[in-house]
Amino acid sequence: MSVPKKKKPLAKTKMGRSHQALSRIKLNKCKKCGKPVLPHHVCLNCGTYNDREAIKIKTKLEKEKKKKEKPGEAGSGSAGKDKKQEKESNKEIEK
Ligand SMILES: [Zn+2]
Repeated sequence: MSVPKKKKPLAKTKMGRSHQALSRIKLNKCKKCGKPVLPHHVCLNCGTYNDREAIKIKTKLEKEKKKKEKPGEAGSGSAGKDKKQEKESNKEIEK
């Protein structure tokens, strides 16, 4: 491994560090709902990109409907699995 001949002065170190600053994330406003969106990304609030619906976003009502349907379909499902599903669905709602 090569070893530097001389110690790098503090000024030179700081000159290098002057380029390490992080820049702010630039956000655009969603045309439909007005929420901040990353440029060239789908709006995660309403699912639009380029003035059209790119992804379908489930509303709270749809999620609750699925919840009610699931226990009936599962029938004799173990309690452990149901708890996991509840946790996952809670995370989705929080988002
Ligand atoms: Zn939006």
